[in-house]
Amino acid sequence: MSGPRTGSPNPDLVVEHVVPLPAFTGTEPCHNRPTEFFHDTYRQDQPEVRAALWECRHCPLAPVCLVWALANPALAREGIWGATTPRQRKALRTQVTARVGAARVDDTYRAAYATAVTKLQGQ
Ligand code: SF4
Repeated sequence: MSGPRTGSPNPDLVVEHVVPLPAFTGTEPCHNRPTEFFHDTYRQDQPEVRAALWECRHCPLAPVCLVWALANPALAREGIWGATTPRQRKALRTQVTARVGAARVDDTYRAAYATAVTKLQGQ
């Protein structure tokens, strides 16, 4: 993968976003070095995976980015987003669905996204 992250590793994939892609500033580490955020496996004993997770944890967009990635599984099937691996996001989605019920999942993500954006704008 090269160029800025678009949220869609597959440009032929047309999926409506449950919440919009975060408003990247272009300074995020994943924008400048996108290949570092995609790996064949996401084992956390791999230094390059740990490094990408560390970069995300220190990125101001992380809370917004995480909600986007959770809310749009088809778009964030691969890659490290919002300081999570694909496996971690799958586990988080399962937890959210169990907590709020499948019918309320998208609304829950929309509310969490709005909260995260508001906090980000207040920083
Ligand atoms: S949290 Fe990670 S994936 Fe999201 S914008 Fe920041 S560096 Fe990129």
